[in-house]
Amino acid sequence: MTLPIVAIIGRPNVGKSTLVNRLAGDQQAIVHDEPGITRDRTYRPAFWQDRDFQVVDTGGLVFHDDTEFLPLIREQAMIALNEASIAIFVVDGQLGPTSGDHEIAEWLRTQSVPVILAVNKCESPEQGLIQGAQFWELGLGEPYAMSAIHGSGTGELLDAVITYLPSTDNIPEETEIKVAIIGRPNVGKSSLLNALTGEQRAIVSPISGTTRDAIDTLIERNGQTYRIIDTAGIRRKKNVEYGAEFFGINRAFKAINRSDVILFVIDVIDGVTEQDLKLAGRIIEEGRAVVLVVNKWDAVEKDSHTIYEYQKLLRDRLYYMDWAEMIFISAMTGQRVDKIFELIDQAAEAHRRRVSTSVINEVLEDAVKWHSPPTNRQGKQGKIYYGTQVTSQPPTITLFVNDPARFNDNYRRYIEGQFREQLGFKGTPIRLFWRGKR
Ligand code: GDP
Ligand code: GDP
Repeated sequence: MTLPIVAIIGRPNVGKSTLVNRLAGDQQAIVHDEPGITRDRTYRPAFWQDRDFQVVDTGGLVFHDDTEFLPLIREQAMIALNEASIAIFVVDGQLGPTSGDHEIAEWLRTQSVPVILAVNKCESPEQGLIQGAQFWELGLGEPYAMSAIHGSGTGELLDAVITYLPSTDNIPEETEIKVAIIGRPNVGKSSLLNALTGEQRAIVSPISGTTRDAIDTLIERNGQTYRIIDTAGIRRKKNVEYGAEFFGINRAFKAINRSDVILFVIDVIDGVTEQDLKLAGRIIEEGRAVVLVVNKWDAVEKDSHTIYEYQKLLRDRLYYMDWAEMIFISAMTGQRVDKIFELIDQAAEAHRRRVSTSVINEVLEDAVKWHSPPTNRQGKQGKIYYGTQVTSQPPTITLFVNDPARFNDNYRRYIEGQFREQLGFKGTPIRLFWRGKR
């Protein structure tokens, strides 16, 4: 479980790093302070009362005076804020509110994260009262007068901060896994549904989905609930009037949209057809996790090599889903059907996974050491400052670089490959965004 994040925001020199040191004590930074990559954002573990969290200093925020690095710092502050449960906005009590403070306050009001206003450098309580009061004009609620150097007032500040941390005993973890069975007509989708809902498993109940007349089926197995999306659509018999082209593709697209994991069913006899590629394209676009279910394995004459030959054939056609596990089954005989659940679990876990910024940057540092970014014709080399996972489902990582144009496809594939090699992500697509300084 990752610790909740408290982001420290403010202009340069207001005492942010002093405050971070005060809160984290001598606990080591979670990210090593490597020049270039993580200079402006280090995560430090801290606690108050019985609550553990991490504090991150976002670097000095300045909105005017646009020097080269400012957009980057602002970007970092944005990322820190996105991850944070609460932001502490630090201002200088001895200086009073400045136009820079007002700009930050205005910006913070457009963000969704709650903000606590810390008026630093208030060494005495009398000072604190007077200095603190001036900051009501920022419109961010009660100013907390404090001194990062002396530690006075930080207890009250932290009392307020921890009320905003998510409570540990009800971590909002989604337990249900939404699964869509997708494939052309006749590949065996309804047979597979029957096999999946086989005798030994409890079918909780068919319940109505969000799409009109979509019926979902809930399956419970080993304490895990699977919602099979739009089972009415799977069971519905083919509509002869519309001909072969009409196979409810809209319905399939809607099911893809509502799901976490796709069971992409392929008929081993027909192989991967144009229609399959069309569905696969949509699944990729939507960023869903995938298990490649190759059905009708019972109908194949085989010797000990056959499975590898088929694997290669199918993989070649679906090379852009090389991260997905492939399983050969028979919905008719039930062969290996049970194993599908394990692959669903694995894919769903990878799809939801969040990797900490420190781990992402460890992988990046290593990757860059093995294989430096390319240099363009003008002799300019690509440079990766740092990366951070901005979202999951699918895992999406933003890489902050000097100039995205300096990173060719080869190098981008290499970095993606490194993330997969080091971090797994079996069964899920991952997305990388390459962002330059603007
Ligand atoms: P940052 O740029 O916001 O990280 O600010 P620093 O933590 O580096 O502090 C900037 C300056 O303010 C340093 O000279 C600190 O010694 C000083 N400072 C920080 N906290 C306090 C405080 O509580 N009281 C006083 N008087 N000075 C402080
Ligand atoms: P759907 O249109 O994708 O839902 O496909 P169905 O489940 O209706 O199956 C289409 C046809 O393939 C039916 O005749 C099934 O009996 C047959 N079928 C389905 N699964 C298997 C299998 O594992 N092995 C064999 N040999 N036939 C299968």
